[in-house]
Amino acid sequence: TDDLIVVKNLKKYFPIRAGLLKKIVSHVQAVENINFTIRKGETLGLVGESGCGKSTTGRTILRLLEKTEGEVYYKGQDIYDLSKHEMIQLRREMQIIFQDPYSSLNPRMPVSDIVGEALEQHGIAKGKQKIERVKELVETCGLAPYHIRRYPHEFSGGQRQRIGIARALALNPDFIVCDEPVSALDVSIQSQILNLLMDLQQERQLTYLFISHDLSVVKHISDRIGVMYLGNLVELADKDDLYEQPLHPYTQALLSAIPLADPRKKINRILLKGDIPSPSNPPRGCRFHTRCPYAMNECKIEVPEFKEAKEKHFVACHLV
Ligand code: SF4
Ligand code: MG
Repeated sequence: TDDLIVVKNLKKYFPIRAGLLKKIVSHVQAVENINFTIRKGETLGLVGESGCGKSTTGRTILRLLEKTEGEVYYKGQDIYDLSKHEMIQLRREMQIIFQDPYSSLNPRMPVSDIVGEALEQHGIAKGKQKIERVKELVETCGLAPYHIRRYPHEFSGGQRQRIGIARALALNPDFIVCDEPVSALDVSIQSQILNLLMDLQQERQLTYLFISHDLSVVKHISDRIGVMYLGNLVELADKDDLYEQPLHPYTQALLSAIPLADPRKKINRILLKGDIPSPSNPPRGCRFHTRCPYAMNECKIEVPEFKEAKEKHFVACHLV
């Protein structure tokens, strides 16, 4: 098949410990039964408010965090069946770009080491050869090669993110989780970095999971988009389909809150009541029912199934 990533019933809980004996008293249900696929060469956007489990999903797919339950297939192989050593090998193919390039770049390392570290660790290049590779990589990411002697603090936020991208590309990966890569940047810089990511995708046949709380950012870069709420994937569809015909009330609310590019289009504003409940004690039934303007009795009891409502358009809602 064309699926690079297949995620089945993925669940990630974090224990909450208390008392002298640090006994587990409850769990943060960060990711609850998520299912999706990512096709080779596409960008799947993952959107939702902060704390909804997007980053946890991304990290669990890379096995930077261990799952609680479920399966994650990469090129047909369940990565949770791999040994530690095999997983280190696979790391070459699966990379991550972080939100805050400043805190993710070692301040005591020059760019040549930050970007070149993995080349050396994996025995790909060292010494002069490594430096040449690093120069190529930073140039590919829009930085002049002479920058490689410099340290992270000498760069602007946008430049630092270019370094973060160069580092992610060093091992020639197939799949990259982009976790809010432009959220810390000025709007004018955001589009430069997004364009860079899209150019690199074309040139290198990359597949992205692109995580953002910003709907206009995911719209720009994604082929398909998944919407998360409180650990659940509530909707998944082709980008245009999702923006034009959102089926889930939460997606409708998110979309109605952003300014429209086309002011002739009329959209009903949906205002959500209340706050996001705690993921350590999520509502029963549909996790969105405490805030949903259409909630019915059934919603408080039955978990809505995530199902294909229209062709390639998945949603978890009793109304649909
Ligand atoms: Fe709203 Fe019910 Fe649909 Fe949940 S299942 S989104 S509460 S209508
Ligand atoms: Mg996050």
